[in-house]
Amino acid sequence: MARPTSWKALGQTSTADLKRLADEQLTRFVREELYPFSRHYRRVFDEAGVDPRKFGGVADLARLPFTTKQDLLRAQTTPENRYDFVLRPSPELIKQHWPFARKLALVLGGAGAREALRYRYTPNFLTFTTGRSSEPVGFAYTPHDLDVLSEAIARMFDVVQVTSPDERIVNLFPFAPHLAFWAVTLGGFKTGRLVVPSGGGKVMGTDGSLRLFERLNPTAIVGTPGFTYHLLRRGNELGTSFQNVRTVVLGAEKTPPGLKDKMLECLRAGGAGKVRIVGTYGFTEARMAWAECPTDDNSSSGYHVHPDLGVFEVVDPKTGAVLPEGETGELVYSTISGHGTCVIRYRTGDMCIGGIQWGVCPHCGRTLPRIASELRRVSETHALNLTKIKGTLVDLSAMGQTLAEMREVEEWQVVLSKRNDDPFEVDQLEVRVAPRKDADRSKIAELISTRLHTATEVAPNKVTLLELDELLKLLGMETAMKEQRYVDRRPK
Ligand SMILES: [Zn+2]
Repeated sequence: MARPTSWKALGQTSTADLKRLADEQLTRFVREELYPFSRHYRRVFDEAGVDPRKFGGVADLARLPFTTKQDLLRAQTTPENRYDFVLRPSPELIKQHWPFARKLALVLGGAGAREALRYRYTPNFLTFTTGRSSEPVGFAYTPHDLDVLSEAIARMFDVVQVTSPDERIVNLFPFAPHLAFWAVTLGGFKTGRLVVPSGGGKVMGTDGSLRLFERLNPTAIVGTPGFTYHLLRRGNELGTSFQNVRTVVLGAEKTPPGLKDKMLECLRAGGAGKVRIVGTYGFTEARMAWAECPTDDNSSSGYHVHPDLGVFEVVDPKTGAVLPEGETGELVYSTISGHGTCVIRYRTGDMCIGGIQWGVCPHCGRTLPRIASELRRVSETHALNLTKIKGTLVDLSAMGQTLAEMREVEEWQVVLSKRNDDPFEVDQLEVRVAPRKDADRSKIAELISTRLHTATEVAPNKVTLLELDELLKLLGMETAMKEQRYVDRRPK
């Protein structure tokens, strides 16, 4: 098949051709990059008895074991394995594994070809994972990978329709070696659209970020749902104008629909007209992120992925079996376009409700497949000993969603502790909330208990009502890199 030559052409390519493109790209990647240059995957292929020369495409991935966060952590903490996931070519490996034409081009290309090789393979940048429970894992990018990320985010700007030459975009993601901040920054560099970083609450502070709004009159805001809502609400208090804002792009966490409504209310109070709020999905291990098409009612439409840059499988989280199209399961990701730190068959831990849909998108007409917007962590159910008898499973993120959605709740925090701080006592679940101004404070505790019980089958032991200022401090909205929504004070 002829490869689509542009992003636009890619979005008009038939499903069959997109699948073929992914197969070809993956096969070439495995034979010429991953197997030759990744110590980890060379071992994985050999142990699984999979001959890379006979590897034929996406369907063959199922012959390989998964890669997990533990694999990455283990490699990182063992000095002799530290670079096992990084592609590291050598003259011998190139000689052994590359096809003749590619080797010849390298020889004939002289110094220019050698420099191009360095550009493709020598890392010059890192981002880190931000897991709550484990050590951060570093992911290396080469200049080539930064080009790939820039391209992916330029596509994202197009998908979310932040494309007008007069766009003025405020990037609220915290200054950090994390994917989100750099993705938006690089997207601005690549597309030539104005992106101004505020660094989030910890760097410029909320009020500082809002002063930036006065100078810039932004057309688009990019940030985490929690901080963005906080900023909009504070903007209403200070009388900040949001009249030019047309698009809000949220990332790093999922956004419950009720929170979108609260944001729209603030935006309208700040003078905004029609605003479209869209979600994105991305993770450090992919070194990439994807966005959904805007919709008129701000409902979620699914994240458009790029079959020429990466491959998603949906698997049964228990058996690991690859599931048919459109079925709910865990997302598994394989890089097919990267160098630096590369993973294939990486278990994201994200359950995708409704799986991946191929075919024409009813919103934008692109043929690019979409990941269903509703994602849940596979392992986000926590065991709590709420009674002396047995552990109770509690889905904290469902609890957070429920609280964020509630009209009566301005801000919230969930705290786990031991009763009376006694390590031998039962666990205690406390919900702290700052009620909205117009909420009936006498009824809110009971209302929260009922809602949480309905959503998660567990009611909190205690609902504490706090003033907004107090709770914002406890959340670390202005001081922490990421607000502290869930606090676990139980002894480890
Ligand atoms: Zn679309």
